[in-house]
Amino acid sequence: MARLVMKFGGTSVADLDRIRNVARHVKREVDAGHQVAVVVSAMAGVTNQLVAWCREASALHDAREYDAVVATGEQVTAGLLAITLEGMGVNARSWQGWQLPLLTDNAHASARILDLNGDELVRRFKEHGQVAVIAGFQGLNKDTGRITTLGRGGSDTSAVAIAAAIKADRCDIYTDVDGVYTTDPRVVPKAQRMEKIAYEEMLELASLGAKVMQVRSVELGMVHGVRIFVRSSFDKPEDIDPHSKNPPGTLICDEAEIMEQQVVTGIAFSRDEAQISIRRVQDKPGVAAAIFGPLADANINVDMIVQNVSADGATTDLTFTVPASDFDRARNTIEKAKGAIGYERLDGATDVSKISVIGIGMRSHAGVAAQAFKALSERSINIRAITTSEIKFSVLIDAAYTELAVRTLHTLYGLDKA
Ligand code: ADP
Ligand code: ASP
Ligand code: MG
Repeated sequence: MARLVMKFGGTSVADLDRIRNVARHVKREVDAGHQVAVVVSAMAGVTNQLVAWCREASALHDAREYDAVVATGEQVTAGLLAITLEGMGVNARSWQGWQLPLLTDNAHASARILDLNGDELVRRFKEHGQVAVIAGFQGLNKDTGRITTLGRGGSDTSAVAIAAAIKADRCDIYTDVDGVYTTDPRVVPKAQRMEKIAYEEMLELASLGAKVMQVRSVELGMVHGVRIFVRSSFDKPEDIDPHSKNPPGTLICDEAEIMEQQVVTGIAFSRDEAQISIRRVQDKPGVAAAIFGPLADANINVDMIVQNVSADGATTDLTFTVPASDFDRARNTIEKAKGAIGYERLDGATDVSKISVIGIGMRSHAGVAAQAFKALSERSINIRAITTSEIKFSVLIDAAYTELAVRTLHTLYGLDKA
């Protein structure tokens, strides 16, 4: 007997047929004697629609009301799945975030989980063999008692948090691909599925654009040592052995569990980037603070930063990137601070993307990035900015070359499947 969390994303619960398919996956595990908590997303497209309605109602809406609206999608799926399971003879009960309760901070629309007690769920497993069907993505503001949501893709984080709280043996993330690939398989058909990936690498892949797992879910999994499997909800429920300790899919686990380590594990990309260049900015102490202080105060995340050494000792160019959604706000913020900064001109571009190469093996291998620069130049792809850290590097390029760059690097590092 094992204790499992099974999480199903939007495409997996897109309509009643798929919800029935999900129910069969759940029944398979229950029939095998396992204790099961299920976490569900909103049906495909529903959250997007709810977000769009909030924006249409008012561009500057209150985040507390946004949460009241967007949290509803998951509530519908949880109820429908519980009904479906009951119809199949499986004892099941739905749970919303406030009923658990899953307590969060007050950062509405991207709240962080503060506390979650799994005792009642466990009691019901033991005493009634009851399946918990939990609405993902939502929680309860610990101070105000209002509904919060965990940010887009947040049901992954609900699932991992619940797995930690009930001390689950495994957290299975069922989605529309059959595991974590070396890069997005929808963009690179030659991408390969990985058997295992280390938390640190998954964290980088996710934060650099691979949306298969929400970043915070991987963080939580790493902190609490939750074994996470990413697997397909489209596998036929009856084809799967519910007693196997290694289900089909990709295991996200400790680095130590991975025997053969590649230098490069995966490639991520993000089109959600914008570049801002400040031309002929004064080259003197305090200027970086005058630029990045106001951006930080405006809660704008700055990612890549490139500053030239000035040729004349007086002025230089400074380039940085921000999320595309913050581009206008970032420009306004800099323009307002022009007096304090002192510069000639501001240039910006939103048609850029960031390509990132990730691998723990980079810690001990030199020259990995240099190979990429050469390969990209051979394709006449110009690099606008570069950042590196211990287990990854990123380049900023024209968005039009995104796919070409990803494919080129995927081949370069030997990641293509035969
Ligand atoms: P869900 O609705 O189940 O949460 P998501 O759409 O959030 O699913 O995440 C699954 C998608 O992530 C896949 O359809 C795939 O296109 C994308 N993806 C991006 N990078 C990767 C990767 N490296 N491996 C697998 N899938 C990836
Ligand atoms: N439904 C939410 C979203 O689309 C949460 C999730 O699916 O994980 O972002
Ligand atoms: Mg998702």
